[in-house]
Amino acid sequence: MSAEPSPEGRAVPFYCPYCGDEDLMPEAEPTGAWKCESCRRVFTVKLVGLALE
Ligand SMILES: [Zn+2]
Repeated sequence: MSAEPSPEGRAVPFYCPYCGDEDLMPEAEPTGAWKCESCRRVFTVKLVGLALE
């Protein structure tokens, strides 16, 4: 698995935002989704933008 941003803009989470586990696997659908192997939640990480400060 590459850490480089993919064309669809998939962000790479390092921890599950729900249970905190590090065992994440890419999901084919929906695009850019990740599956937590610990709690089985499937989620996406969306970049909103940069903070002004
Ligand atoms: Zn989890």
